Amino acid sequence: MRLSRYFLPVLKETPAEAQIVSHRLMLRAGMIKQASAGIYSWLPLGYKVLRNIEQIVHEEQVRAGHIPMLMPTLQSADLWRESGRYDDYGQEMLRITDRHGRDMLYGPTNEELITDIFRSHVGSYKDLPLTLYHIQWKFRDEIRPRFGVMRGREFLMKDGYNFDLTKEDALHAYNRHLVSYLRTYERMGLQAIPMRADSGPIGGDDTHEFLVLAETGESEVFYDSEITDLKFGDRAIDYDSVEQCQAVLEEFTSRYARTDETHDVAEFAKVPEERRRTARGIEVGQIFYFGTKYSDAMGATVADAEGNKVPVHMGSHGIGVSRLLGAIIEASHDDNGIIWPEGVTPFHCGIVNLKQGDNEADAACDALYASLTALGLEPLYDDRSERAGAKFATMDLIGLPWRITVGPRGLKNGVVELTSRRTGESEELPPEQAIARIATIYGKATA
Ligand code: ATP
Ligand code: MG
Repeated sequence: MRLSRYFLPVLKETPAEAQIVSHRLMLRAGMIKQASAGIYSWLPLGYKVLRNIEQIVHEEQVRAGHIPMLMPTLQSADLWRESGRYDDYGQEMLRITDRHGRDMLYGPTNEELITDIFRSHVGSYKDLPLTLYHIQWKFRDEIRPRFGVMRGREFLMKDGYNFDLTKEDALHAYNRHLVSYLRTYERMGLQAIPMRADSGPIGGDDTHEFLVLAETGESEVFYDSEITDLKFGDRAIDYDSVEQCQAVLEEFTSRYARTDETHDVAEFAKVPEERRRTARGIEVGQIFYFGTKYSDAMGATVADAEGNKVPVHMGSHGIGVSRLLGAIIEASHDDNGIIWPEGVTPFHCGIVNLKQGDNEADAACDALYASLTALGLEPLYDDRSERAGAKFATMDLIGLPWRITVGPRGLKNGVVELTSRRTGESEELPPEQAIARIATIYGKATA
């Protein structure tokens, strides 16, 4: 993309309404625009990152054997009356009446809708296990929407639902989700710690929240510092293996890690003092096992091997897709702007032309652009007639992990400059080598 043709409405001033750094930077970098309280338009740069995050979530869900689908945002109140949650959910639910006077709602979550689909189409234990998920907009009429996309009213969530014959099978689904979530967040450059949590209005017995540590987090968390040394990394996991998923669960949840809702002072005191940590965290996901709560209420049964009708065991699992943009920025920025992890960056690298209009510099930038594009990479070429300082400031603000700077002086010596956004370190090297380096970083093969 050439910046002169893109739509990147960066702001010079720091917006007064933004209290936390991720919100400020998303506004300044022209990623979002508030449409009304807690509701945002996703401008091109923000939309690109949102799509990248969504893509990682999809890939890791499918890897774990979960099946994508799509349910609507608007739901009928009748299903929620069946589960009893139409009254329980309270004022966070946006209730709508259609022209025929029918009660509708903008879905805050989808347990009822998915259970209805299940009971309409699945009748036998032979169709289990089954895990369906979708990535869809949710609406919760939060009393205090704030922090930009972190606590919106309309927000994008991946929500998945497992259906199993037995509690044992459903707990495997729970563990499988835990494993897949660890991988998902790490691919986004985040450490999200699974913490024992409280189940809230979803209901249920077993639940973990995934928290990213950040000063601006809304949850108070307590944990054993050994946890932050754990890395899931690039392990090959057989998601069908009960033992393998169980082993990961034990490794990542055996140490003390809880939110304030479940914090147990006496238990925490057993952690050696030098390892006890109190901090703040951003909830980026949550997994639940809730047994037969919805299948009992809504009559979702299957015939077991003996032909008896039994209610299915269920769980639900959510990832805050749009909130993740804020969480990633909170975890990865400096005074000059965002620092995108390579896994989610909107463009793979920036190209800065120090002397727009200079034949040689323009030609070198065009050639770099063409080569990178041919490798399947997406560069953002700042081809505006701006001062170098302004171009650097924009690149730093929008946070592309790598920048190639091209100027007449370097070109005389056959070199361009490759700069890491994270470390600020620069290196002069021939353009072909800069291309090869970037290709390697993103796992693209050069000829
Ligand atoms: P919170 O405690 O932050 O209100 P929740 O526990 O009610 O969230 P869940 O029902 O667990 O939320 O939803 C799954 C995920 O969706 C959460 O882990 C979070 O990342 C995201 N999420 C929830 N509410 C919002 C919101 N208002 N804005 C953006 N993301 C949200
Ligand atoms: Mg939650």
